[in-house]
Amino acid sequence: MKRINIAIDGPSGAGKSTAAKAIADELGIICLDTGAMYRAAGLKALRLGVDPCDAENALRIMADTDVDIIYCDGVQHIMLDGEDVTDKIRTQEVAQAASDISKIPEVRIKLAAAQRAFAQKYDVVMDGREIGTFVLPNAEYKFFVTASVEERARRRYLELERKGALDGKSYDDIKAQIETRDYNDSTREFAPLRCADDAVVIDTTNMDEAQVCAAIIDAVRAKG
Ligand code: C5P
Repeated sequence: MKRINIAIDGPSGAGKSTAAKAIADELGIICLDTGAMYRAAGLKALRLGVDPCDAENALRIMADTDVDIIYCDGVQHIMLDGEDVTDKIRTQEVAQAASDISKIPEVRIKLAAAQRAFAQKYDVVMDGREIGTFVLPNAEYKFFVTASVEERARRRYLELERKGALDGKSYDDIKAQIETRDYNDSTREFAPLRCADDAVVIDTTNMDEAQVCAAIIDAVRAKG
């Protein structure tokens, strides 16, 4: 049976994850947030005091690391060596470690293999940076969800403010962090952030969540 695989790529803060979850709910399929897997790998490095930029040591610990995704009542839980770390991976420190460790090709190959196995087993909406270009190049549905850096920084700032997690950071600090992550993601040598030639581009700068979700679902249904 042919699986439904929907690839959603794009830079940080463009609204991919929110859209992916809503679309998966609407279509009654699973959503896989691949960023959470890189965050778990980054968390492991931080816990062991290994510099996530140090490829040799990062690879050594990754050889013994098990990153898995499970679903409880349709909600994704990220497991690191059998421990549920879902609530521990959303810090700025872990995001930075994820960004660093994700530059190591062997780390990407390992996590991409797990992601492909997932897509073979389940109908899935997968969001990341290189799903349509590297992980699932044959996915029938590909989207590149983006927004201006100012708008992405504005959304992130409001989100952190709402959570009381700004830690004294200004809008400009958040914007600079996003620009650094964009730069790292799009300039890494192996499987960088890139729009697949056959992806539908959705610029969410002036769209709300419901509009983004509707645009993707309409495009999926139009293709059949
Ligand atoms: O999407 P999220 O911000 O949670 O991802 C954390 C980091 O993991 C990103 O900054 C990016 O560097 C990396 N990542 C990646 N490839 C993916 C998903 C995330 O390199 N498919």
